[in-house]
Amino acid sequence: MKALPALFLSWFIASYSWGADTFDLNTGHLTIPLVVVGDGTKTSDTILASDVVITVGDLISSGETYSLSERTLTSKPDFYDTSLDQLLIPQVVVEDIVYEDIVITLGDVVSHTGGSRPWMSPSHSGAESLQPFNYFFTDDIPQIVRDRFELAVEAAADYFGRYARTEIYVVGKDEAALTDLIDRWCNMRNADGHTFSKSNSWGDNCSEYHTNPENPARFEFYRQKSLAGQFGAGINGLADFGFHYYTSAYPGYLEGEGQSYGWANPIHEYFHISQLAHTARYEQRTTDLMGPIWFWEGSAQFMDKWITEELQKKEKLPVLGEGPYDFIQGQAWTLKAARAWWSEGNRLSNEGGFDLWGNVGPWTTAYLLHSIDDIRALEDKFYPVLRELGFERAFEQTFNLTIDEFKVVFDDFMGRTVEEQLSILPGWNDYGNKDKVISDAESE
Ligand SMILES: [Zn+2]
Repeated sequence: MKALPALFLSWFIASYSWGADTFDLNTGHLTIPLVVVGDGTKTSDTILASDVVITVGDLISSGETYSLSERTLTSKPDFYDTSLDQLLIPQVVVEDIVYEDIVITLGDVVSHTGGSRPWMSPSHSGAESLQPFNYFFTDDIPQIVRDRFELAVEAAADYFGRYARTEIYVVGKDEAALTDLIDRWCNMRNADGHTFSKSNSWGDNCSEYHTNPENPARFEFYRQKSLAGQFGAGINGLADFGFHYYTSAYPGYLEGEGQSYGWANPIHEYFHISQLAHTARYEQRTTDLMGPIWFWEGSAQFMDKWITEELQKKEKLPVLGEGPYDFIQGQAWTLKAARAWWSEGNRLSNEGGFDLWGNVGPWTTAYLLHSIDDIRALEDKFYPVLRELGFERAFEQTFNLTIDEFKVVFDDFMGRTVEEQLSILPGWNDYGNKDKVISDAESE
């Protein structure tokens, strides 16, 4: 096939404004706007190189295929994993087709004109990775709970993207098992050469991190939750250590018959990992780009329930208990609480409690995604440009509104009828219980 010059030019421009790779059938050249180069098994820093042209060695695997007109091109970088000698390409455009999740070996490097600079660890580089996650369970977590918990995390990673080193620690009730878990944590830290100090990491060595009662992310904190029957879980960015640290108390609703919303908690925490993969800056390994709490926590609240239903419908997660999770029913209860809080005169602010981030928050996400008719806009458009543009400009570029403009239109939205509000949810047109959920959200 031969490309028309004018069309080729438009693909070329598309690649430079959005960042997808392009492959030229005439020359066999693959043009890569951005690529992270490093050892995907490690937590040490990588290199970010731009404008690299290569030839392809072998095709190892490939994912879905789309026509160019139906697919958002993301600016996620490629990842060249030196431990595998493989290049993972999120998207490559060949004529008018977009191929996704392509894995190849390199042929030759034809040119490299864009320079390179030191960059974040693989986990926080913004590039997706082929490396498996590390799961650690205390001995008292039953196998069925481990299996289902891993299934939920892996399904979430398939949906939101896999971001290199992710260590997941699940803490049960047993005290002796906790000591063993700390040993496994220390093995990982020692293997990676991480050093601790009281001034920035809660203790002078790896085990003190978990025995310091001040540290909210210590294992003992989650063991106490398990003992109290609370299903707590948390993500600690640890961008400076170069990995994603996920701790969970005993996961709820996944045992025996279980309940379908049991999937939502691991999916929720994994969504935070996909956010954190894009929020730390090279110079200051903090995560100050997350934005206001109604946005970052509200979107996680929205996504955990939406994806729980979606993955069950697509048979990527089994249905537990009575049936698949009913996303719209869940959002109707949330809406009722959000409307009550709003009617008391409360409005969006950067920090706040559950009404702000748990009830109103997911409705801000529902509104934003609906307003641009793109349910994947956070993963595909917003987070990949966040580090480069900063929160406000990334928000504006993705949703075509400034934050202040959004607050005005969202205030108007909160004043509409329940039916108008519910109708923005994905799946509403085909939903069978409209009258019931309208009445649920309206009731006093
Ligand atoms: Zn959260």
